[in-house]
Amino acid sequence: MQASNPQLEIDLQALCANYRAMAAAAGGADAAAVVKCDAYGLGAAAVARALYTYVGCRAYFVAYPEEGAALRSALGDGAVKIYIFNGPTPDKLKLFKDYALTPVLNSIEQAKLWTAARPGVRAALHIDTGMHRSGIAPSEIEAASAIDGLNISVVMSHLACISDPAAAMNETQRAAFAAAFAKAARRFPGARASLSSSAGALTGPEMSFDLIRLGVGLYGVSPFDAGEPRIAPVARLTAPVVQTHTVKAGDTVGYGATHTAARDGVLATVLLGYGDGYPRAASNRASALIGGAACPIVGRVSMDQIVLDVSALPTPPETGEMAEFFGPGHAIDKTAADCGTIGYELLTTVGGLARPRPGLGGRVIRRYVWGDEPAPSALIGDEADEGIEK
Ligand SMILES: *Cc1c(COP(=O)(O)O)cnc(C)c1O
Repeated sequence: MQASNPQLEIDLQALCANYRAMAAAAGGADAAAVVKCDAYGLGAAAVARALYTYVGCRAYFVAYPEEGAALRSALGDGAVKIYIFNGPTPDKLKLFKDYALTPVLNSIEQAKLWTAARPGVRAALHIDTGMHRSGIAPSEIEAASAIDGLNISVVMSHLACISDPAAAMNETQRAAFAAAFAKAARRFPGARASLSSSAGALTGPEMSFDLIRLGVGLYGVSPFDAGEPRIAPVARLTAPVVQTHTVKAGDTVGYGATHTAARDGVLATVLLGYGDGYPRAASNRASALIGGAACPIVGRVSMDQIVLDVSALPTPPETGEMAEFFGPGHAIDKTAADCGTIGYELLTTVGGLARPRPGLGGRVIRRYVWGDEPAPSALIGDEADEGIEK
């Protein structure tokens, strides 16, 4: 079948392997999956169902209660724990109740709001150990402990610098968390400790405590500034060639004529652009693979199209041949670095705009596979309802 749209292929088998690899690195800690932002653009329903079915994941984190409600419906198991990073606000308390969502309480104000509305109902408590983004200060643990009806089942914090395992701040935060947890556990016995995301889990049991929160590593992106061999690629972005041109030395390419051909050559135009979330910052910097060879992006990335220099290929690509912008042959971390960003952002922007078929708000088509096979259709139920080809 000749593709006429860009494709985002998602390998759920590799996703499950990444979950296992990170859980193994963390030792005995329980592993929760972070599926916020529609599983970093890869589709929270399919991702969560795969992890539920094949690796037994029973705890998930999302940012918003609306995401939690959709996830509860997709998984259809009332016993699964769904944590909401952003915590409760007065307008959304009903969602927490209706979908049995567990809030992360990030401030004394949220802790009071929650206990006033749902006394005795379990919540997670976020303690700020130095990132200064979310959570109560360690000095506020006493005030939290005094709140009547507060029932904390997880005490968590978040590491600021763990993308560099050698950063001194990691140990400072680990020690601060251990002390804060010990203090909180006196008032909330039985609470579990959670400090690490993907990077922390991969650094080992020392950082992993009772519960790890696995995000980006599940999706095949290294959580470290450097690459990570234990993480397998999951997402593959390809785009079809729609035409080729011959150019003479001195000819220019694209808006602003920012590229000038140094010699006679061949160019290929592919269907992908910043309208699909592929960064315009890739202009004249990143590359795509055709037939295993890296072909540089020449000129500016436009909204719908990109031009590649294919002069080095033994034969010019055919119409419909696919160029790989990231995937198993072309590391997403490298592509992201070429674009001046990180894999997290590249995946959420491209994946966030991808849809099961064109016309559903996206042009990039999201497809699920299991290794070399199509993904089991039970995993992609909602997507199938929207018309995905199985
Ligand atoms: C997003 C997030 C995670 C997951 O982080 P990754 O680096 O993607 O594994 C974990 N904890 C918190 C608080 C987060 O915001």
